[in-house]
This record gives sequence, C-alpha cells and structure tokens, in this order.
Amino acid sequence: MTVSAILKQKGHDVVTVDARATLLEACDLLAARRIGAVVVVEGDRQIRGILSERDIVRAVARDGAKGLTAPVDSCMTREVVTCREADTIDRVMQLMTTGRFRHLPVADNGRLIGLISIGDVVKRRIEQVERDAEELRAYITAA
Ligand code: AMP
Repeated sequence: MTVSAILKQKGHDVVTVDARATLLEACDLLAARRIGAVVVVEGDRQIRGILSERDIVRAVARDGAKGLTAPVDSCMTREVVTCREADTIDRVMQLMTTGRFRHLPVADNGRLIGLISIGDVVKRRIEQVERDAEELRAYITAA
C-alpha cells in the first residue's frame, strides 16, 4: 500500500499553524483537534517546520508555564522529514523508526498535501495482517 492510497481514505486535510502563533495557541489547536502535532506552513502551504506535543513539553520543562507565550517558531523542528504520495507504507515505517517521530508530512515540491501518523500506519498494517490471515484460512479450508 502507498501513501497515496492512505490519503485517498483519510483525506488530505492537515492541521497547520503559523510560526508566529504562541505555544499556548498551538496547545489549544492540538487539544481541540485531538492530535499530537501541527505542521508549520507559510504562504501556499510551504512546509517551514513541525511542532509536536513533545516539543511543547520540552519548552515547559525548560522555561515553566511562561514558556507557553513563546512563538511556535522558537521550538519547532525545522528540518522536517517528508514523504511523497508514491512512497510505500514500509518506507514510511522506516522513516518514522529511524527518525524516532510519529508524524510524516506528505509533500509535493515542498508543498504540504497530507500527513501520515503512526496511527494511520498501524491501522493499515493490522488490516493487511487480517487480510493475509483470512486468505490463508480460505486457502487451507479449500484444500
Ligand atoms: P512526534 O513523535 O512526531 O510527536 O515528534 C517527536 C519529535 O520529532 C519532535 O521534536 C518533533 O518536532 C519531531 N518531528 C516530528 N515529526 C517530524 C518529521 N516528520 N520530521 C522531523 N522531525 C519531526
């Protein structure tokens, strides 16, 4: 299965934030949308960074609650690893495992067109394993 097939099912919507928003505003967004990361974009959805709940926890541990007034820009990750629509689930899993993160923006020429989370990957993997088991069962009972 490819990233393109996953996006066809889950859609291309991605929650984004401006680099000048405060961490508190980003927290509101994460809580309201029940997600773990937001992509920081500029202009026509050009990817500038990613901010995950882990970045916010780190900022609060370092600066206390007053750190929440700092801009997203101050603690987002700037070197964002992205994938493309043609990438496979195996490739996505490899990127997440190697990079130790749970979110992978999908980009087309630097432009954000979707997001794959570890939850999306696990869901499709389980579906695949169940399909394989069902095929094996059918094969065995037919023999
Ligand atoms: P996560 O596991 O996705 O919540 O993120 C853990 C850390 O990795 C945080 O510092 C994020 O800013 C960073 N991060 C998350 N996704 C990516 C990505 N696709 N590329 C680079 N860094 C990322």
